[in-house]
Amino acid sequence: MTTTKRDYYEVLGVSRDSGAEDVKRAYRRMALKYHPDKNPDNNEAEQKFKESAEAYEVLSDPEKRQRYDRYGHDGLRGAGMHDFSRMDFNDIFSMFDDIFGGAFGGRRQGSAGHRRARGYDIETQIELTLSEVLTGVEKSIEFKRRDLCEHCSGRGYEPGHSPQPCPHCGGQGQVAQSGMGGLFRMVTTCPHCKGKGSVITDPCKKCSGQGLTIKKRVLSVKVPAGVKDGQAVRVTNEGEPGQNGGPRGDLYCYVQVKSHPFLLRNDDDLVVRVPIGFSQAALGATVEVPSLSGRREITIPSGTQHGSVLQVKGQGLPNLRSGRRGALLVQILVEIPKKLNKAQEKLLREFAETEDKTVLPESKGFLEKLKKYFAGERKHEQKE
Ligand SMILES: [Zn+2]
Ligand SMILES: [Zn+2]
Repeated sequence: MTTTKRDYYEVLGVSRDSGAEDVKRAYRRMALKYHPDKNPDNNEAEQKFKESAEAYEVLSDPEKRQRYDRYGHDGLRGAGMHDFSRMDFNDIFSMFDDIFGGAFGGRRQGSAGHRRARGYDIETQIELTLSEVLTGVEKSIEFKRRDLCEHCSGRGYEPGHSPQPCPHCGGQGQVAQSGMGGLFRMVTTCPHCKGKGSVITDPCKKCSGQGLTIKKRVLSVKVPAGVKDGQAVRVTNEGEPGQNGGPRGDLYCYVQVKSHPFLLRNDDDLVVRVPIGFSQAALGATVEVPSLSGRREITIPSGTQHGSVLQVKGQGLPNLRSGRRGALLVQILVEIPKKLNKAQEKLLREFAETEDKTVLPESKGFLEKLKKYFAGERKHEQKE
């Protein structure tokens, strides 16, 4: 890579001890010679033009020049060099604005006032229910954006008037100053007209010369099924208008999913927590649970534990990509009665008596673990 590069002094045709002014003059000469206007569709000229820009970037910068003098091309690694091979002519011109100055005046498009620019993107919110996430939906949304002023058609001046040439720069959009004893000219964008070359003497009364007013817009937006909270649907060309005929920006609709009184979303699954009585858990039961398609009966097997989860496949939300629906996850909450009436208490006491004879498997494990734990601890204490 480094070996194919020519020596920068050779590129500009200057000696190693040449001063800053010589380097500048040499580069200006090269740039004029290989200028794209004079060499249309000439690839070789383009390469030479870029090569001399690179050489100039190095030799005009005392620090980069010193590194280059000592270590050659390798010395410039990490020195913050531009990649001229990828750069557009206009970018190169605007980089060395002070040198080219009026020389290429007609060609330069760097001034801000004339550049076609894409409009800004804007954001808005779109609120969905879980049912809308399930099916996907087309929603009408209303939002505000800056838009071309109707009164002046975005021109910024009162109809019937026209912009006048800028008195500060004489309509050039740029102002020039002579520098270094007239050797070259410093050219900058005119601060008065910001490079437009014209000024508005009768600004539009509706938009105060901005060319833009805030407008309400109503739009129908398609939201795909399975969309998640915080994701955005992009609607192209619905942002703010571009400048000087540039395209509009885009509109991003950020999805907010409203919370459901019973159903909680967990990716493509829906979770519902269902309280049941302890006798239902022990004996098994059929209970009604809410789902997105209305009430649903589910069977709770006997011996269901508190916190256990029953899965109803295909009753969740569709996956945004595959469309496959997740599950409805029913989490069982076993409730212990806080109050018992006389009859219930009697029955439960009788039940408890029978329970003493039969130890529940889970409890058995727990009790044995507990016994061992305490036994071990006592041993431990005795040792100390
Ligand atoms: Zn206007
Ligand atoms: Zn001006």
